[in-house]
Amino acid sequence: MATVTFQEVSKVYPGDVRAVNNISLSIKDREFVVLVGPSGCGKTTTLRMLAGLEEISEGTLSIDGRVVNTVPPKDRDIAMVFQNYALYPHMSVYKNMAFSLQLRRRELGLTKSQIDQRVKEAAAILGLTDYLQRKPKALSGGQRQRVAVGRAIVRNPKAFLFDEPLSNLDAKLRVETRAEIKKLHLRLKTTTIYVTHDQEEAMTLGDRIVVMKDGLIQQCAPPLVVYEQPVNRFVAGFVGTPPMNFITGSIVDGRYFTFEKQRLLLTPRLQQCLNKEPATEVILGVRPEAISPTGEGRFAGQENIIQATISVIEPLGDKVDLYLSAGQQPTLICRTDAHHLQGLAVQAELPLYLNMDKVHLFATDTTGRNLTLPQQA
Ligand code: ATP
Repeated sequence: MATVTFQEVSKVYPGDVRAVNNISLSIKDREFVVLVGPSGCGKTTTLRMLAGLEEISEGTLSIDGRVVNTVPPKDRDIAMVFQNYALYPHMSVYKNMAFSLQLRRRELGLTKSQIDQRVKEAAAILGLTDYLQRKPKALSGGQRQRVAVGRAIVRNPKAFLFDEPLSNLDAKLRVETRAEIKKLHLRLKTTTIYVTHDQEEAMTLGDRIVVMKDGLIQQCAPPLVVYEQPVNRFVAGFVGTPPMNFITGSIVDGRYFTFEKQRLLLTPRLQQCLNKEPATEVILGVRPEAISPTGEGRFAGQENIIQATISVIEPLGDKVDLYLSAGQQPTLICRTDAHHLQGLAVQAELPLYLNMDKVHLFATDTTGRNLTLPQQA
């Protein structure tokens, strides 16, 4: 068990490439924290610095209060699971899992039977008991990944580090293995730091998620907070599938959001936020599930209806994703009940109701900051 603290940590590669830029992050004992962001945002570099595989250029990194900047990987007592399982092909599953302990048996003060017990316990947890004598080539991708996890478990480390461990698995196996990793954490409660570019994986696994971009932490919070209160437009657009819709427009009289001759009435909360942070041009953000098709009396007489035209219909069983155009704005996506669609087809005009309680307003400048976070109201 361990706490992990990054204090103003940076990684600068030769050629002045600032892969990680002055990040500060405190991870609690037993916490499951997911680093997520687009390719190249610095998540793997952050994890590798923690593992000791990458030198730290600036700042301080501590595990359980002990500064580890110059401590070699083997003395950090943490175990890393990689995307490409990195199993020894000529060794059995048992040997793969036991090997690192056998190598350091005396140093770790373990007997042969203690190692045997640890391997068998880990195999039982991971459902690998029947495969212990097999070689990796006779295993499925999911089983190989479990062996890689088993190899980390037997070390009984202070923390687990996972670097995109599910990337090589097909979609179904990814979801299954994701659930196994979550169960494993509930059982072992070992501090876990997990890297992925997949925001859905991040949302389902993390106690907290850390959204990164260009080597900087954008937001660090529990998944629902990141989803409902994104600090800026980047986070709002990165988290959620389908992504948040953005409409560029103007604030009129401090009460209305207008775009291309369409008008929406701002709620008192949004108006108050704008009183504090006046803006004339803003970007309105609304999630697909906060937009509803009108029709058959739904939302009759309501304000906050905008005109749009259906361009694509994507059925998903009981739900359907509608892609819509509204003037010159980027395509809007609305997720709705499939039964609301009866009689509608591509090119049909479809008035849409926007739930203004769920709307965010973002600055149009490069910060794209959220002007309407509840705590600012
Ligand atoms: P991915 O999801 O693609 O693995 P990532 O978020 O994990 O991306 P990193 O691998 O941490 O990103 O890389 C962050 C930045 O540092 C990138 O711009 C990358 O090109 C750069 N970088 C990584 N390793 C090196 C290196 N050895 N030398 C120079 N630049 C590097």
